Amino acid sequence: MNSVPNFHTHTGYCDGKGAAETYVLSAIAKNQSAIGFSGHAPVPFESWWNMKEDDFDKYLYEISALKTKYGKEIEIYKAVEADYIQGLVSPADFSQLNLDYVIGSIHYLFPSAAEKPWDFVISPKIFEQGLTEYYQNDITKLVKHYYKASCEMIEDGGFEIIGHCDQIGKFNFDNKYFSPLAAFHTQAIDEMLELIAQKNIIVEINTRGKLKNNSEEFYPTLNILKKCKRMNINIILSADAHTPQETDSFLYEAATVAKNAGYQELMIFKNTTFEQVGIENFC
Ligand SMILES: [Zn+2]
Ligand SMILES: [Zn+2]
Repeated sequence: MNSVPNFHTHTGYCDGKGAAETYVLSAIAKNQSAIGFSGHAPVPFESWWNMKEDDFDKYLYEISALKTKYGKEIEIYKAVEADYIQGLVSPADFSQLNLDYVIGSIHYLFPSAAEKPWDFVISPKIFEQGLTEYYQNDITKLVKHYYKASCEMIEDGGFEIIGHCDQIGKFNFDNKYFSPLAAFHTQAIDEMLELIAQKNIIVEINTRGKLKNNSEEFYPTLNILKKCKRMNINIILSADAHTPQETDSFLYEAATVAKNAGYQELMIFKNTTFEQVGIENFC
């Protein structure tokens, strides 16, 4: 078994805990082959968990310095996880920054009735409030809005990996809000996957939901992963680490899930580009 790389990592620059160097040392101690930093990119409005515009250059500089310092011991990559909010911010805004790669994610929706972008994943309570206030308790409207925003983000481009692509189900414990098999949901997923396949975007298996104990499955669910496989969509493993201890959280388990979905290969980032490796290296 080779040591598994992680390409999705947050530090104290955003909502992670601790210095980037601590994560590097943790990944080296675990004999991981690579660590990619993907701080939440700045957004043009108040947010406690996105990097501050004023800190952004320092973040980029620090990751570059770590590459130089530890480059012989571990591969280190400089990336961001960038939000898409129509008309406000897009992963494409960060595509010219000399980053190794960009993760595109939807953490906010901006419903017409809202005064500012709505962070729908921050807590079950805020999810519930927004569902009532902005979508009149119509979950189909909300789910469709999420996948519409995802499709817009994919069309807009500027990123290589789509982050936790079915995260709208984050609080859907025991199908509290909808059945994942409902036609409105499967159709929305299918449309998004069509676009992902067309644009050659990589889907991450994000293990954070499971770590935080609010999801039994990874993002995306096994059903969606099987669809990805049928559509020849490439996948990558992501711990979405927010502490130095989490740099390899559930990654071997995620590789096994990918194998169960029919995958024989996973993507990794190597030097300057993504490449496929055999899944047997990781499970
Ligand atoms: Zn995210
Ligand atoms: Zn993340």
